[in-house]
Amino acid sequence: MKFLSYELGKKEGYGILNEKNYMVIPMETLLRELNKDVPKNLLDFIRAYSDSLIGDLKEVLENIKDKGIPLKAVKITAPIKYPRRNVFCLGKNYVEHAKEIKNLPSGNTIIPDNPIYFSKIADPAIGHMDKVIIPKDYSNKFDYEVELGVIIGKDGKDIPYEEAEDYIFGYTIGNDITARDLQTKHIQWLKGKSLDTCTAIGPYIVHKSAIPFPVELDIGSKVNGEIRQSSNTRNLIFDIPTIISDLSRGLTLRAGDIILTGTPAGVGMGFEPPKYLKSGDIVECYIEKIGTLTNIIE
Ligand code: MG
Repeated sequence: MKFLSYELGKKEGYGILNEKNYMVIPMETLLRELNKDVPKNLLDFIRAYSDSLIGDLKEVLENIKDKGIPLKAVKITAPIKYPRRNVFCLGKNYVEHAKEIKNLPSGNTIIPDNPIYFSKIADPAIGHMDKVIIPKDYSNKFDYEVELGVIIGKDGKDIPYEEAEDYIFGYTIGNDITARDLQTKHIQWLKGKSLDTCTAIGPYIVHKSAIPFPVELDIGSKVNGEIRQSSNTRNLIFDIPTIISDLSRGLTLRAGDIILTGTPAGVGMGFEPPKYLKSGDIVECYIEKIGTLTNIIE
């Protein structure tokens, strides 16, 4: 089940993609069939219902089949455009990537002993086919990072490793766009990761029921059709249950929180000479079973 947010003319909506991926069934239609309140956006839907309605939604989808809006008619937006707080991120969570960025300030060891957490501001997050705007008088080292995004489904603290999946709503694709010059200059990564239009997510949130656990999905990116990153999420140094159990120790995770789990090798900074993004570039981030998140560099 693929959830998405969209604009149809001036109206914002959210819904579920039909099985053949060409029609959006608005959540409003589905929830009215179930006599349920309609939360105003997908984030509020996750907070209100998370997994409790999935079975019922599947049934309603069966019955109303293709009574929706053609996917082509809507503008897909970030599934969660305004995250309820900063996006949680993992640094150096694939071995080969940790090696290629060894010059970044992040401690003395190349392979981290513990997860490296940082956060980025997404206000708003951009979505599929949206433009990334480089402030050229300020940064000339914009870089891409494809990442598996985990969407938390219910509040939890001190979550046991074995129960991590219960706290997940689903998965998405993230592009953790980074101004490498600012990331280095300020030592702390917050600013270099948080410029406007630097958090892309989408196009969909795939419900966890569609993805076997542990999550082992091919992940990669292309720039102008050239393969840059290619790996599998089984290569995460700290896997999803480790991240959720460790991050939630003493820190309550909330339904709707987004965790970007780190990027594999092949970022622009890792090449010699580096391959930073420039105007006109088309960046495609893809993850098996989720789709492709495309963004254009303005
Ligand atoms: Mg990253």
